[in-house]
Amino acid sequence: MMAAATPDEPKFKEVYCADCKMVLARYSVKYFTDADINELVHVHYSAHIKEGHAIEIRMSV
Ligand SMILES: [Zn+2]
Repeated sequence: MMAAATPDEPKFKEVYCADCKMVLARYSVKYFTDADINELVHVHYSAHIKEGHAIEIRMSV
């Protein structure tokens, strides 16, 4: 029998900068809403935003 992903497996959203082509951070969806993540991005990664970088918040795989 093959190991399957458990339903309660923690899920993460990652903050990705398309201009730097790197993942800046990962947040557990259990503890952070999209609004929380947006706020954290603005606090911690404002340098990217000021430079006009395209920041995406996407599900981590
Ligand atoms: Zn960037």
